[in-house]
Amino acid sequence: MKKTKIVATIGPSSDSIEVIKSLIIEGVNVFRLNFSHGTHEYHQSTITKIKEASNALGIRVGILQDICGPKIRIGTLNEPFELKAGDRLNVLKESIIGRKNGEIYELSINQPQILSLLKEGEYIYLYDGMIKAKVVKCLPDMIETVIENDGILSSNKGVNFPNTKLNIDVITQKDRADMLFGAQNGVDFVAISFVQNANDIINAKAILKEFGSSAKVFAKIEKFDAVENIDSIIEASDGIMVARGDLGIEVPYYKVPTIQKLIIKKANAANRPVITATQMMLSMAKSQSATRAEISDVANAVLDGTDAVMLSEESAVGINPVAVVKSMSATIVQSELIYPYGKFDEFEFADETDMVASASSHLAQRIGANAIISITSSGSSAIKMARNRPTMPIIAVTHDESVARSLTIVWGVTPSLVVPQNQLNLLLANTIKGLKDANLISDEATYTLTAGYPAGKIGSTNYIRILRKEQIKYYLNEVK
Ligand code: PGA
Ligand code: MN
Repeated sequence: MKKTKIVATIGPSSDSIEVIKSLIIEGVNVFRLNFSHGTHEYHQSTITKIKEASNALGIRVGILQDICGPKIRIGTLNEPFELKAGDRLNVLKESIIGRKNGEIYELSINQPQILSLLKEGEYIYLYDGMIKAKVVKCLPDMIETVIENDGILSSNKGVNFPNTKLNIDVITQKDRADMLFGAQNGVDFVAISFVQNANDIINAKAILKEFGSSAKVFAKIEKFDAVENIDSIIEASDGIMVARGDLGIEVPYYKVPTIQKLIIKKANAANRPVITATQMMLSMAKSQSATRAEISDVANAVLDGTDAVMLSEESAVGINPVAVVKSMSATIVQSELIYPYGKFDEFEFADETDMVASASSHLAQRIGANAIISITSSGSSAIKMARNRPTMPIIAVTHDESVARSLTIVWGVTPSLVVPQNQLNLLLANTIKGLKDANLISDEATYTLTAGYPAGKIGSTNYIRILRKEQIKYYLNEVK
């Protein structure tokens, strides 16, 4: 079984129960709903289908709500601008229909307050980075720029400010409404777009709390200032997404691979699950097979230590989402044959749970355990175990279904549910019986187990146990 998880975006190509079932069978662990598209009605019906497919197969999957955030765009143009290097283009604060005024092009953007932040010499990127405009003059009512390369610009294209700290509210009114919808529909993860700093995450968490949601908050790293603030963003977040699409516009595209490696390393060290996203197997949106370069990209993200790899258009609007997931799974499985397992000594210990996780996964390796059983109330012990990248599966045992689902995205972890128990002996007996019934363990194998004793206190993992077949049989008898 593969250790690296797959996140797949649902869209018109994959929104039937049949396809969703096949995607789960082929290895999807988490489904992403992209709130840049689709109505609440559409997403609601998708959630229902995912739950139905998951229940029918008896395989737990997570749901990630990706909220669209403040995408900055130009307004409408009266006709496409055929821009040439050296052309003058003015961005007006007043809202106008874009036009050519004599020799000068004029347009406006949907967030004109940003224009006051620009300085001479900074850049405005139009059409997702395709057309570069250099700011030459900042006036009270407009920004004057000079176009640096040829390109055709049409209405409503995306705009980026790769040198300007915008400090805008990254959660829009639409995002708030979407987050309320997500809370009401029990999504497991919420991904925040265009995060600038830790405050954006703190605000997102406050909003979710207000809505009564316990969803895990993932920061999408896709802005240059997010890269600068990566340490505090990781600290504030429950997880990270390396959102390479917009990131490659905000920072020079050739820096994306090294930034990916850096972010994965930092997220691993901080016990935050990390997703590597965008264009992983994009050619398969239109083709039956991926390019060698794409397969290498997936393999390298796995070897970098990502928890999950993500599919966007490939699974949402592509010609064959099931084939994409098949290829991705095969690539993961093959790459994991040469995985740098056993990172017991690689990370600093922030607390005793980190030490117990390191020691017990090391122990599991030494005795050749078939799996590691991690009893966890908040999920954090299992995440901390996964950081050590043991060769054997980590079976996370929890009494809370939402915690179980939050672990679907974590490398190497299979979540499972047990009834809570205050007495350790009872908890062990119920855990072993439950895992045996679910076919997750056998009474002929060896395991290590960690738990908190006294049981049921968050952050108290302090107990390591070796379970061989005699003990497993003993506990199985205890429950009978
Ligand atoms: P998006 O985010 O697909 O929502 O834009 C991912 C990315 O930018 O890479
Ligand atoms: Mn993006």
